[in-house]
Amino acid sequence: MTILAYTTTPIEEIPVIRDNLRRAFKTGKSKSIAYRKQQLRALRDLITENIPRIREALAADLHRPAFDADFLEINPLLTEVKLAYDRVAKWAKPEKPAWSFNWFAMKPTIRKEPKGVVLVMSPFNYPLLLTFSPLAGAIAAGNASVMKPSELAPACSALFAELVPKYLDTEMYSIVNGAIPETTKILELQWDHIFFTGGARVARIVLAAAAKHLTPVTTELGGKSPAFIDPKCDLKITTKRLLWGKVVNAGQTCMAPDYVLVPKDFVDTFVNACVDTLKEFFPDGAEKSDSFARIVTPSHFARVKGLLDGTQGKIVFGGSTDADARFIEPTLVVGVKSDDSLIELFGPILPIIAVDSLDEAIEVVNSQDHPLALYIFSKDSAYKAKVLDNTQSGTVAANETMIHYGAEGLPFGGTGPSGSGYATGKYTFDAFTHLRCTIDNPGWVDLILGGRYPPYTVRLEPE
Ligand code: NAD
Repeated sequence: MTILAYTTTPIEEIPVIRDNLRRAFKTGKSKSIAYRKQQLRALRDLITENIPRIREALAADLHRPAFDADFLEINPLLTEVKLAYDRVAKWAKPEKPAWSFNWFAMKPTIRKEPKGVVLVMSPFNYPLLLTFSPLAGAIAAGNASVMKPSELAPACSALFAELVPKYLDTEMYSIVNGAIPETTKILELQWDHIFFTGGARVARIVLAAAAKHLTPVTTELGGKSPAFIDPKCDLKITTKRLLWGKVVNAGQTCMAPDYVLVPKDFVDTFVNACVDTLKEFFPDGAEKSDSFARIVTPSHFARVKGLLDGTQGKIVFGGSTDADARFIEPTLVVGVKSDDSLIELFGPILPIIAVDSLDEAIEVVNSQDHPLALYIFSKDSAYKAKVLDNTQSGTVAANETMIHYGAEGLPFGGTGPSGSGYATGKYTFDAFTHLRCTIDNPGWVDLILGGRYPPYTVRLEPE
């Protein structure tokens, strides 16, 4: 197998692609449930028939271990596609509002209609899942779609450009590859919905472009996800689940625990337990391990290394780096203050903030933007309830990290600066669906409502 060369889509082709999709959408072919299911089956085949190539592309872009490729991207994506396939008929069925004496005769109905030609923009860190899971929702909802994967994951993006036309209906679904010039062209065009997963900086560019066309946008962003550590936790399980969330994909996960809040007199015990767990994860060190990824590009490596070099905190474990291999060792840093840039780093470094009390920990979290995820490690339900009741975040997991993304039936999304709108399962379908309200009023209803036409005969009494 070979890694494909990454080529960008010629800029002048981009409006043509969008126009062709619009023409195809207008034929109405994507509206039948049979068509949607057929395309979802084709999407499943695109994945299942190319698993070795997908693993290889993820390894080329991110040094991603094959196990992680399956566990973090391929399997959750297949679950999403199957769920959409199994449920699409139910999700797309028109709904009736609650029966009402005043309105029932007019047959009020909510039709689930595709928005039209939509755009999916995805980031480098989970290129397969975050490109095709929104697409599964877009297909299920009956839309045509352009997908714009990240130029920072070129092996994956090139593979997608080869596979999408092989498996999916080319009249309806298209990959556009490129960096800023191509994306700028894409964003000049009108779309019927934009589903953007990425960082806040680019989200502002996308939202500004969308505003020109009044295009609705889902933003799945990231940011400063804290973990509260209660000494009354199961420390072994805590450090395993917390550090798994931190080291998987070398910390480049939108909902990775960014920093931990630990009571001052528990810091040493907590650090020792973390060190034991990291030694269990990587007995010969992470650099030699085949279970540890790398930072995606030299510039991202330089950014993370710069943050580590600039911290006021003290490294108590790890800290070694290799620029050529874009390797950053899983690292523990103590004495970190809440305004240290290290807490927003997108890398395998765990900043530890010591606090005097739970109230202080809550204050630290509330002094930052609302995070995408918030983690609580405790066996004490009063502690968990206090954190839940006094903070805001996109999502929460107690005694776990990250896997709530895949929990069937739960919406995944940020709040405020960590994003708006929801993803996964029916929530993705909903993002791409317009709820079109309809009534159909029989003539006899004028026996009751006929008085509304002028000239008015009913006179209102003065109050
Ligand atoms: P990014 O915002 O840099 O890139 C996302 C997309 O925007 C890419 O397709 C990229 O090509 C495009 N882009 C980049 N610069 C652009 C510009 N100037 N104009 C127009 N388009 C541009 O994100 P990234 O670095 O690839 O991914 C990491 C970010 O994604 C992190 O902030 C992370 O928190 C976030 N993320 C969020 C989720 C979630 O589900 N909430 C999941 C994964 C990643």
